[in-house]
Amino acid sequence: MPPTVPRPLEPVLREFAEVAGCLWDLGWAEASAGNISADVSELLKVPPSKGRAGTALPTPLPALAGRSFLVTATGSRFRDLRRAPEDKVCLVEVSPAGDHVSWRGIVWNAGDIRPSSELISHLGIHAVLREQRSDHRAILHAHPTHLATLTHLERCSGSAELNRLLWSIHPEVKLLAPRGATMLPHLVPGSNELGAATTRAVRDGADTVLWRYHGCLAHAPDASTALDRIHVLDKAARMVLLCLASGEPWRGLDDRELAELFARYGH
Ligand SMILES: [Zn+2]
Repeated sequence: MPPTVPRPLEPVLREFAEVAGCLWDLGWAEASAGNISADVSELLKVPPSKGRAGTALPTPLPALAGRSFLVTATGSRFRDLRRAPEDKVCLVEVSPAGDHVSWRGIVWNAGDIRPSSELISHLGIHAVLREQRSDHRAILHAHPTHLATLTHLERCSGSAELNRLLWSIHPEVKLLAPRGATMLPHLVPGSNELGAATTRAVRDGADTVLWRYHGCLAHAPDASTALDRIHVLDKAARMVLLCLASGEPWRGLDDRELAELFARYGH
């Protein structure tokens, strides 16, 4: 085990720390909530631990054969990760056959570190992204307060209603988050069902998946860009909640104004 962070991983680790700190400041990573992963295969010239046995994957992921990932550790607090990420992030390696996974710390004093309990869900999504030849390398899960709150409103019972509301109250959301959010029904946190439904949504083209009553998962070229997209959507959600709280009548963009917006920035 190397005594210091392998140099090629330093920028990714720094970005994890910055994004984790932002999530903490935003109140979207309470206690040990939130997780981040990034495919670092292209940064590591030599697969570092060929031949490690590892744990069998529930479903083989040939698209990830031999690939490596940085993944935040289970139980890690993002407020601590901001300050000292080195021993709170795992290096996860998929076997050359794509059927086993192993992990270790990236510094000598990381101890018995384990990746996020959402590891299998993250890997399933990374596999879809590789199959789609996407340049997206990072996945971020957090609990954006306003967006999650909005999923409790009856008027936001589906993705179409929710996105219409977000785009109509803050038109630039269409520019910065053109696909909006794909909302899933409530599924038990950490369940295989939630992981499978999220992977299906990503396979169908979603880049931001909103878990009803819970939080958000986004993929992007890097963790900062994933955070940007969730931030934009949450800003619009906050504006909706502020309008509702004001008690004043409010309108947002009407159908004609939305049609103009879509004509310019696509559906
Ligand atoms: Zn969560």
